[in-house]
Amino acid sequence: MTPSAPYRIGIDIGGTKTEVVLLDPEGRPRLRERVPTPRRHTREYEAILENTVRMAEHALRQTPRHEGTIGICIPGIIDAGTGCVINANITSLIDKSFQQDIARQLGRPVAMENDADCFTLAESLQGAGQGFAMVFGIILGTGVGGGLCFNGRLYRGRHGIAGEWGHMAMDPDGQPCFCGNRGCVETLISGTGLSAAYQRAHGQSLSAEAIVAGAHDGQPDCRTIFQAFLDTFGRCVGGIISLLDPDAIVLGGGLSNIDDLYTEGADKARRYAFHPDPRTPILKNKLGDSAGVYGAAWIGI
Ligand SMILES: [Zn+2]
Repeated sequence: MTPSAPYRIGIDIGGTKTEVVLLDPEGRPRLRERVPTPRRHTREYEAILENTVRMAEHALRQTPRHEGTIGICIPGIIDAGTGCVINANITSLIDKSFQQDIARQLGRPVAMENDADCFTLAESLQGAGQGFAMVFGIILGTGVGGGLCFNGRLYRGRHGIAGEWGHMAMDPDGQPCFCGNRGCVETLISGTGLSAAYQRAHGQSLSAEAIVAGAHDGQPDCRTIFQAFLDTFGRCVGGIISLLDPDAIVLGGGLSNIDDLYTEGADKARRYAFHPDPRTPILKNKLGDSAGVYGAAWIGI
């Protein structure tokens, strides 16, 4: 860091909480706060906008000259052409010029990226992906997101959707996805997808965690579903290895705590890749919940 490096403010807007971090010019956190994201409000978009602006202003006031870069992480995609939010899990953001609206209210530019991109950038710069040139980041949670970093910089792609592997349509006869396609990676290997597979096979609702625990306890119903899940994980991740041949793949999100993904799942992924002996490391994230907010701080302008 040079002495002229800026203070960096990162804001991570999630479905349930919004978090802010202020990094000093040496990259040390000086402020970290978490508040509920205002949801199911009659004017949800305005409430989220106001909350985000308030948190950014609060962080700016903590800096010596009330100056700093600002980056924002959202659970959605920003169209590279129009600047509008598309396909966001917080649906009140969809079709809104969220980035421009925040910039206008703050009177300064702000950067905005998808949460999987922020995760990948943070893990690439400060986490499990450090030291690897090309890092593919995967968030396995309620949904599935992906991002791509090369030499510590995000690769966005022509439309800003690079890495959106979660919506690769794998199975035309598969389950409908919110994006309009069927059998997307997200419908197969997200927590929701795992739970739904159990429900379809056994007519009972069981959480992803309970299915994994049941499989470990040797319950046949859970084992069958979980083995199929690991195989599909391998097929989907093996495809990434063949397509991009990244130097490392980093997993995040709630399901990244499943140890089998780094043993059996990783073996399957390597078997499905187009190489007799791929050595692609499939790594657990190091930053946990903090990756989104740190990634947001690093994209700031
Ligand atoms: Zn989809």
